Amino acid sequence: MLYKTLAELYESLSATTKRLEKIKILSEFLKKLSEQDRDLMYLLLGEIHPSYSEKKIGISNQLAIKAISKATGMGEKRVVQEWKKIGDLGKVAEKLAEHKKQTTLHSMASLTAKKVIDSLRKLPELEGKGTVGKKISIITELLASASPIEALYLIRTLVGDLRIGIQESTIREALVSAFFQEFNEEEKKEVSKAIQSAIDKTNDLAKVFEIAKKGSLKELGKIHLEVGRPIKVMLSQKVPTIEDGFKALGKPCAVEYKYDGFRLLIHKKSDNEISLFTRRLENVTKQFPEAVEYVKKYVKGKSFILDSEAVGFDRKTKAYLPFQQISQRIKRKYRIKEIQKELPVEVNVFDILYYNGKSLLNEPFEKRTSLIKKIIKNHPYRIICAKQIITDSEKKAEEFYKKALADNQEGVMMKSLSAAYQPGSRVGHMLKIKPEERDFDLVITGAEYGTGKRSGWLSSFILSCFDKKTGRFLEIGKVGTGIKEKGVKGQENLTFERLTKILTPLITEEKGKTVKIKPKIIVSVTYQEIQKSPNYSSGFALRFPRVTALRPDKPLSEITTLDEVKKDYERQK
Ligand code: ATP
Repeated sequence: MLYKTLAELYESLSATTKRLEKIKILSEFLKKLSEQDRDLMYLLLGEIHPSYSEKKIGISNQLAIKAISKATGMGEKRVVQEWKKIGDLGKVAEKLAEHKKQTTLHSMASLTAKKVIDSLRKLPELEGKGTVGKKISIITELLASASPIEALYLIRTLVGDLRIGIQESTIREALVSAFFQEFNEEEKKEVSKAIQSAIDKTNDLAKVFEIAKKGSLKELGKIHLEVGRPIKVMLSQKVPTIEDGFKALGKPCAVEYKYDGFRLLIHKKSDNEISLFTRRLENVTKQFPEAVEYVKKYVKGKSFILDSEAVGFDRKTKAYLPFQQISQRIKRKYRIKEIQKELPVEVNVFDILYYNGKSLLNEPFEKRTSLIKKIIKNHPYRIICAKQIITDSEKKAEEFYKKALADNQEGVMMKSLSAAYQPGSRVGHMLKIKPEERDFDLVITGAEYGTGKRSGWLSSFILSCFDKKTGRFLEIGKVGTGIKEKGVKGQENLTFERLTKILTPLITEEKGKTVKIKPKIIVSVTYQEIQKSPNYSSGFALRFPRVTALRPDKPLSEITTLDEVKKDYERQK
């Protein structure tokens, strides 16, 4: 397939904001896509490999500017000037490519989509000396044979800002509409669920495309878990009280500590193949060598997939630490031994998805949780089965809840004993209860530079929630509180300086003191109240918001949605 065909698809997708229209356009495209072109499925989301792969394109704006300059013969200064004016490097590349087309006579070779993906895949492979130069030549070569519209989408893909309003869920619905046309509405709903489940188990859109293309629900059902390949985790819903929990789940049910750590999926393929993944599907095996060792030593079984929460604790006092303290270990790739000593983790296992060659997803929770107890040898401060009671007594559950809070944990989880494990779903059979209801996980989409003491730093941050219906991020307020001016040595500090450093490479537009920021950095925010507000695109504003933590463990798809904001607004009334 020519890359031009894909660029034209992007163009028509971005020309409409209507979800149904997008699904229709995409579905027509998918019908024409051959199996040889399966890898283009990744490009639909601006990626080059399955979403769990660590090989991301990762090109900075600065590098893209250099490549545009080289390919078009315009000085870098001119490219930057245009960027400031237009605010979209892709559009700059398009404009300059147009100009070049008019001033040069040579005809362009046609760019195939395969050539594009092959070239893009070379980028994350480059390492060591001369990497920047090599990356620039790969991009320049692509740009040199690109038409203006191809240049537009090449650059947007490179800098990770495709702007076509497509999510995994749009692709899912387009697959239903393309390959299950003859099914009735009820059956289509079932197909949609099966496709979502296939996506959540494989996290590989090209693989799901290949199978969906067969048009058979049975085939979709054959997609299984694979040990060593990350899986999306099952998520919980929130209820205000233990009583509500029992009402929703029935009696008896399991009540567990809700640990204040981060989610860790543990895969054991063989004795020497143990890998750890976050809920963002990132491989963090190297970051937590002690967890690998505990699994080797204290968990019985040839192969398995465990779901757990890793919690940090103070080496000396053994007191559990809040998530923010240990979140730095997730990203840290150097001096691992040192930080491991400073901030050790305890692994609290609460579920099992696979054991000795067999998927347990459809087994009831009661069976799964009792298997965990059989195969794990509890070693506090190393690895343990999550603290749990199975009860039908509200009184006992309340006492357990109090104990969890006294132990510095967030609250409790209540779980139905008969439920299956549904990867990727926010299910109604696993419920969380915690005292602080008023917090959201929001993404930073803009900021303002400070003045006076804070000049040179970004000091006020625009927060956005996610609107599932339109696939857009909607602003819900500004925050500057909770971030420190000065860090304290030896602590995990969220300072203005640190945030500025993290956010600067993500700036997409700059106007005076205000900048727009690519939605990537997620923060947990508490607030006093939600108000209606015409000032923000969500229609809501947070009163007295305060940042409590960076959430490097959380994927964008799991931030607070507009529906959740609305629900909490109603509840608060
Ligand atoms: P929160 O911000 O409240 O942690 P969340 O959006 O991060 O919520 P939820 O799925 O809504 O995630 O809340 C459950 C989270 O709590 C899980 O993702 C997991 O990381 C953590 N957790 C801690 N203890 C348990 C447990 N015993 N069972 C299941 N999840 C647990």
